[in-house]
Amino acid sequence: MAGEPQADCLFCKIVSGEVPATVVRETDTTVAFRDINPQAPTHILVIPKVHYPDAASLAMAEPQITADILREAGVVAAEEKIDGTGFRVVFNTGSGAGQTVFHAHAHVLGGRGLNWPPG
Ligand code: 5GP
Repeated sequence: MAGEPQADCLFCKIVSGEVPATVVRETDTTVAFRDINPQAPTHILVIPKVHYPDAASLAMAEPQITADILREAGVVAAEEKIDGTGFRVVFNTGSGAGQTVFHAHAHVLGGRGLNWPPG
């Protein structure tokens, strides 16, 4: 069923606790944890507890949870004190855009200068 945990999904396993992660925040609908391979001094992933393969499919099915992710991105940025200097929220969508884990997630990046356009 749409949104159900997938047995072969790494981020579903982080939601369930089967795979450990450094969790910084949790709500009824989201989990935020530190990226294992940080690309900036602060690099946190905010994910929905439900399983959808990417942000676009999540937004179609669960607009409120998508909004929850954006809210949590801002809360995490404030808690990490990167909101003053600026931070970036990225949803890589599709392998051609660099997506490697097919469970929707927002990257929250900050703590250094961020160039535009991204690579
Ligand atoms: P994507 O490339 O799909 O946009 O982002 C996936 C992110 O998940 C990558 O930045 C990668 O470093 C991170 N990641 C992959 N495996 C793990 C893991 O086991 N634990 C954590 N905390 N992050 C992971």
